[in-house]
Amino acid sequence: MKLILMGPPGAGKGTQARRIAESYGVPQLSTGDMLRAAVKAGTEVGQKAKAAMESGGLVTDEIVVGIIADRIGEADCGKGFILDGFPRTVAQAKALDAMLAERGLQIDHVIDIAADTEALVARITGRSTCAGCGEGYHAVHKKPAVAGVCDKCGGNLTTRADDNEETVRNRLSVYHQQTAPVMDHYRDGGKFRTVDGMLPMDTVYAQLCAILG
Ligand code: AMP
Repeated sequence: MKLILMGPPGAGKGTQARRIAESYGVPQLSTGDMLRAAVKAGTEVGQKAKAAMESGGLVTDEIVVGIIADRIGEADCGKGFILDGFPRTVAQAKALDAMLAERGLQIDHVIDIAADTEALVARITGRSTCAGCGEGYHAVHKKPAVAGVCDKCGGNLTTRADDNEETVRNRLSVYHQQTAPVMDHYRDGGKFRTVDGMLPMDTVYAQLCAILG
């Protein structure tokens, strides 16, 4: 199964990708997670990506295409993968087409998780994630039993540096200008579907599974 999950920041791509990855046994390839890890580790890629990420802008196509090209060549991607947060520009989508064609592969599903911009600002600015297991929480909709502590594994909850309102608005505007056109790249291929990301998380997941089969 080779799946691209699209949608604006905060639509739930990461949460849904994690669930699908668990139940279908394929890895979740999140360029955002990989870039955050590179920034934390202080690698050359991390140093190059840091400023763009902090402002809510996009990291260069060259960097993210390089990361994905390396990652999909790894053994655990043999059964498929879920792309979460990539491609984010038409140039990235074309580069992905080329790297898959080289390997005789193609994408099976492109699913857009659509959501309303204002709701997304509220959603993103309230969210936190467990540093241990990756479980997501929200200050209003999904509070942990003990503040700052994960219900599932007891890990510490962390907030992303780019989840503040100003950066979120910039990320949404970048999404509308640069990433929304990527949907047109896939719309004609018969593999493109949309689900309503404003529905409850479990409903969205059920719809995704219905599409994936
Ligand atoms: P995400 O976790 O997907 O919201 O990504 C966090 C940040 O990482 C984005 O705001 C961008 O700065 C950067 N990023 C992640 N994926 C990409 C991509 N495919 N192209 C360019 N920048 C990216």
